[in-house]
Amino acid sequence: MAVIRNHYVGRTFIQPTQSMRDFSVRVKLNPIRSFLKDKRVIILDDSIIRGTTGRSRVKSLREAGVKEIHMLISCPPTRNPCYYGIDFPSGGELIANKKTVDEIRDYLGLDSLYYLSLEGLLEACGGPPDGYCKACFDGIYPVEPDKDFCKLLLGTRNACQSTDKK
Ligand code: SF4
Repeated sequence: MAVIRNHYVGRTFIQPTQSMRDFSVRVKLNPIRSFLKDKRVIILDDSIIRGTTGRSRVKSLREAGVKEIHMLISCPPTRNPCYYGIDFPSGGELIANKKTVDEIRDYLGLDSLYYLSLEGLLEACGGPPDGYCKACFDGIYPVEPDKDFCKLLLGTRNACQSTDKK
């Protein structure tokens, strides 16, 4: 185990403030320098939301002496907020809403970054493509969110920003 994970820290991206997220990331993952120094590393993750977690993780790996860091994400870029129960931030806070994949790679300090395509994700899921909500990837909401409900649910965040574009 080259990185010891603290299982008492939950999902960092849903924590309400940036300082809480930064603290949790630092406590959550502890790189072991003796295993990592001069190594080439691939990070596998399910998503990049704001990018702050990934950026801190890459920084701590560099500090542990890692030579190359590559990241593979098992879904397409998360470009739109979720109104159906997952506490994503508004579109403006999602890093893939504002930056290209190359810009995200540079922001995170990676040597390379690859996302799974939407087609690849659907193929892996196996069911009919129309049977899944894909709104956070393609911006097509199967049930149009009520704007008043969005504002109530997500407070001062500009919750309906993404659907206003349609
Ligand atoms: S796929 Fe749909 S329900 Fe699932 S997180 Fe994305 S927007 Fe929310």
